[in-house]
Amino acid sequence: MRLLVVEDDAALGQILARGLSEDGYAVDLSTGVADARHNAHNNSYDSMVIDVGLPDGSGLDLCRELRAGGDQTPMLMLTARDALSDKVGGLDAGADDYLTKPFDFPELTARLRALTRRPPDTLGPLLEHGDLKLDPASRRVWHGAITVPLTAREFALLEHLMRRADAIHSRTALLESVWDANYDGLSNVVDVHVANLRRKLSMPGAEAPIETVRGQGYRLSPVVAP
Ligand code: CA
Repeated sequence: MRLLVVEDDAALGQILARGLSEDGYAVDLSTGVADARHNAHNNSYDSMVIDVGLPDGSGLDLCRELRAGGDQTPMLMLTARDALSDKVGGLDAGADDYLTKPFDFPELTARLRALTRRPPDTLGPLLEHGDLKLDPASRRVWHGAITVPLTAREFALLEHLMRRADAIHSRTALLESVWDANYDGLSNVVDVHVANLRRKLSMPGAEAPIETVRGQGYRLSPVVAP
């Protein structure tokens, strides 16, 4: 899950970026309308968190502009306390939800989970693939009847694979979706996390649930009909 956070308050922006990263999201941070517009046009996000008061314009206008351009990304606006007109304006502008500052971090992550549980009309809240089950709301994973403890990043990676279960995911695509634009750590970070997931999800006598497609990347192993 990749998020765009648009917040000009440097301290709050850093807190949000760090906290959401620890929660398993890949986070890009923009501090103004122009940079956010650039990011939104060049990347694909699962959700955006947009402050209303930005130095070079209004977050509401940005939201309206992106919607007018056909951007359907779930958007959550951050509004000043008691600025009721901001809240109404945010929903009018096409935002999906809003939070009033100051807010508790768990409240933000709860709202984001609700917004990114997509698409609600076709997918139940529980993702299933063969013996694997993943609940985005409670952030739990089961293999058969066994609960599998995963780190936040492993969970994000598995959720990404399960939401597009038939697709082959290149390392680059996974880095862009599950990590973020500024990731500059180990180049084999995807392989390391896939290896960890395979180890945690392996069952005696069963196929590994994630397979390598030579020269292309990874995908969930197809479910074999019983
Ligand atoms: Ca602001």
